[in-house]
Amino acid sequence: MADAICMGELLIDFVPVTTGTDLLTATAFQKAPGGAPANVAVGLSRLGTSSALMGRASEDGFGRFLIKTLEDSGVDVSLMRRSRRTRTPLAFVSLAEDAEREFLFYGDPSAGFCPEDVDFSAIAKAKLVHFGSIGLIPEASCTATLQAVDAARGQGLHVSFDANLRLDLWPTADSAREAIREGIERATIVKLSDDELDFLTGATDPVEGARSLMHAGTALMVVTHGRHGCTFVTREVAGKVSSFKVDPVDTTGAGDAFMAGLLTGLLEHPNAPLTSDLLHAMCLFANAAGALATTQRGGIPGLPHRADVTALVGKDPAG
Ligand code: ATP
Repeated sequence: MADAICMGELLIDFVPVTTGTDLLTATAFQKAPGGAPANVAVGLSRLGTSSALMGRASEDGFGRFLIKTLEDSGVDVSLMRRSRRTRTPLAFVSLAEDAEREFLFYGDPSAGFCPEDVDFSAIAKAKLVHFGSIGLIPEASCTATLQAVDAARGQGLHVSFDANLRLDLWPTADSAREAIREGIERATIVKLSDDELDFLTGATDPVEGARSLMHAGTALMVVTHGRHGCTFVTREVAGKVSSFKVDPVDTTGAGDAFMAGLLTGLLEHPNAPLTSDLLHAMCLFANAAGALATTQRGGIPGLPHRADVTALVGKDPAG
């Protein structure tokens, strides 16, 4: 059984074949497997951490393509439920010149995930459960996800949460804010981007902002700063870690590759105190994974393998 269970959406990203085109000007899109928790599951597997995805996939051709992609990447798909009632969710992702993105979603990203789909016996055997905010949008998926997460916490597992804000999927900004805060409340490890921290707290200082969101169960918060790297924050220590200089073509999946790198580090040091030195090393590894993910188009295709991440860690960060 997998050490890390990722919960949530599995979808097709359609990415313009030409960088610098938006949805108005794009003439052709490339099919790429994606969905943040699915990306993290593949990212973990490529870094050598056994992973499973728990969620739903449609029985249509795209759904079969997605399941095959996960299997080919070494992700355990035995916890995936199949759905004939819903079609595979789609996201059109436009890439601006600076490789920043804009999303247009179609369909229920959870594909109908519901409480009956949660396999509690698999959670009991895992070491970590990971989830994100998109799984909290449909009501049934939210209930299922929170039940699974509560079970994991009850068994003393680490639970990681990526805020992964996609505002246009939410009815209102306040509903997104409330759900993301709820996700943070349930997690021991939290990843937020600068923008998400600003959205939640209005803070520009990552340490102050992250600490304002901490609760009794928080072990670690990490705020990502795109090409500038990240800041790790615990109650005791905090520090900024620079990323690596690369030529980005598509930032899709960078955050998920980063998350996979961070969780791999965490699982490799299960009982070690989270000292500044250890967190620095873990964040350097995660930055390298995130940086490498930007050098290829699409979410899953760009997620790096361990040897490439290790090689990049050996070089000097960009500063
Ligand atoms: P996503 O867009 O996938 O949701 P995110 O907003 O969660 O990502 P980012 O801050 O964009 O996260 O990127 C995550 C990490 O990836 C960064 O902390 C950094 O380590 C790495 N990274 C992202 N973009 C670059 C870049 N252009 N150069 C180097 N490293 C990068």
